[in-house]
Amino acid sequence: MSKWFLEIGDETVGPLTSSEVSNLKDSAGITAETLVWQEGDQDKKVALAKSELAPVLEQKSGVMCEFCHDIYSFDEIIQIQDQNCCYKCKDEVLVRLQENTLDNPNIYRYGGFWVRFGASILDGLILLPLLYGVGFLVGYIVSPEPLSTEYWVMTISLQIFQFAISFLYTVLLLWKKQATVGMMATGLIVVDARNDYGPVSFGKASARWASAIISGLILYIGYWIMLFDQEKRTLHDHIAGTRIIYKKK
Ligand SMILES: [Zn+2]
Repeated sequence: MSKWFLEIGDETVGPLTSSEVSNLKDSAGITAETLVWQEGDQDKKVALAKSELAPVLEQKSGVMCEFCHDIYSFDEIIQIQDQNCCYKCKDEVLVRLQENTLDNPNIYRYGGFWVRFGASILDGLILLPLLYGVGFLVGYIVSPEPLSTEYWVMTISLQIFQFAISFLYTVLLLWKKQATVGMMATGLIVVDARNDYGPVSFGKASARWASAIISGLILYIGYWIMLFDQEKRTLHDHIAGTRIIYKKK
């Protein structure tokens, strides 16, 4: 029976039988990408997920798709050009192979119209009672003569208050959590496409918030255009360089 070596961090572990690897797997920081090789075959290191030891890993956690980086069980993974590919990424990977555009191997699932619509309804349910509640209360207490100076001061102040709350709610959450409450509930996050799909900065979150106002002012055309965009970009996503994607499991 062949013996195996594993490269875990800086250490080489082995020789081990496959059942010894199996015993080790929960404690030793072994992942789908841990390099393994058979005794005497040191120049043929492969990722654990691609080796004959793969079933050991399946008992542990499954296999990582190399395109979307989610974990799948073995029967959901196929090999495309020697890479583990899940059933969800398969079609797109095959298309990209044909187009010769597989050099950026990352595949992201973009949040489409309905899920984002749902997320904004949830955010609205949180914000609107607060905004209208305060507006109603202030109106009741001040009760100005319609169109008097007092009336306009109140109306404009309330408008500024609404913008401030909307700004704080959206920008702080996107900056700190990459998602509003509605996005969290629907599994979406906002990423910075100009920075490796990483988190958005405060400035970027602010730019996105501000340009979303423009998207809304032009009869929401800034929103509708996402229906015709492969990456589901709104106008404010274009301006801020952001995307909305599904968060990895
Ligand atoms: Zn995948």
